[in-house]
Amino acid sequence: MASSILEALDIIANTIPLVATEIIPIEMAVGRVVSEDYVASFDLPRFNNSAMDGYAVKVCDASKNVHCSQVIYAGDNPSMVLQTSHAIKIMTGAPIPEGCEAIVPIENVTTSEQTVTLPSDIKHNGFIRMAGEDIRKGTVFLKKGERVNAYTIASLASQGVSHVSVHRVIKVAIFATGDELRPHFEKIEAHQLYNSNSPMFLTRAKELGCDVRFIRTSADTLEALETSIASTLDADLIITSGGVSVGDKDFTKEAFTNLGMHILIDKIDIKPGRPTIVGNIGKTVIVNLPGNPLASMVNYELFVRAVIRKMSGSNDIYHNTIETKIDSDYSVRGGKHAVILGKFDGSTFTPLKPQMPGMVSPMQEADGFILITPDVTLIEAGKIVKMLPIKWEFCSSKKEVLFS
Ligand code: AMP
Ligand code: MG
Repeated sequence: MASSILEALDIIANTIPLVATEIIPIEMAVGRVVSEDYVASFDLPRFNNSAMDGYAVKVCDASKNVHCSQVIYAGDNPSMVLQTSHAIKIMTGAPIPEGCEAIVPIENVTTSEQTVTLPSDIKHNGFIRMAGEDIRKGTVFLKKGERVNAYTIASLASQGVSHVSVHRVIKVAIFATGDELRPHFEKIEAHQLYNSNSPMFLTRAKELGCDVRFIRTSADTLEALETSIASTLDADLIITSGGVSVGDKDFTKEAFTNLGMHILIDKIDIKPGRPTIVGNIGKTVIVNLPGNPLASMVNYELFVRAVIRKMSGSNDIYHNTIETKIDSDYSVRGGKHAVILGKFDGSTFTPLKPQMPGMVSPMQEADGFILITPDVTLIEAGKIVKMLPIKWEFCSSKKEVLFS
């Protein structure tokens, strides 16, 4: 029985296992997902300090001429105490001295020799960065399931964390099946076809942070398929294309089943790409996609991406959408849950024409896609639609409405 798109995404969210964890230097962790909460071991800032180059002062000295003969620099550990009628020159980031009630920025005073004329308006604690105002000791500053980026690394470094526990890189194996297929670096005959799916799958998996360990084309026989499968079972994820429909040489499902595949999703109610299968052999997750390039791409974007997000340990496993509007009337045949690829310019969505399951060229144009229900036959110009982006990751920790 075919699953609906939403059922298939639910099955993925609920059943796909996470890859194991490892501890690595923070500089190596970009793109990985942290596997535990990180708790601040000290306040950031660690101490009250000056937010400006200026003067440490008392509030009661506003409008007065005060005496200044001392300076505190960033990195100093001052021991002096600020007295009334005095100011201490202080640099950004330097610890404020005892007795200091505010910082007055340098541009707000006038000076002559050792006398500083203070402004009339000095606020208590003005221009002082308080200990812990950024990150409070004992609080979680990085949550399990967050994906590491440059700014996460800044937080970790600011807490003196050198190594971080993350889920390891997902190991992917890719193979295509089809006697007509040849690799793109060989000369081919008129009746043959270059295998464009495998390089596409490989590149997309890499873009999504995976490590692709195996890539091969299998002949359309059970034996050849079983050999390919057997040599990929150390992967976390096997992605195949071709041989999943009802042709005489479509043996992909049978070959995987012979090797013990437990089927989680057997066909999906989607156009294009209905024959898609998701299953597992032990801990290895398998996605069998159709051979038609655009059909395989659409199902990769919807389902393989969801599998990879889940495996990676991320909290944000659900697709998110951007509301945009269709630029002109667009007719569809109706009767199916369908995917429409399009271009997005920041304000409007333009469906690509033509877009057929067997095509290659529309894929490179597509910025995203919309999902429509079987009752839709016309999307009128100006209608608000929900676009799922392809060219960047936009995901959510909660289930979003996906259909337009
Ligand atoms: P299949 O799913 O095996 O029936 O293939 C459906 C269509 O997709 C056929 O026209 C195949 O030639 C084509 N096709 C299958 N695999 C690939 C591939 N790896 N690259 C490009 N086209 C493919
Ligand atoms: Mg085939």
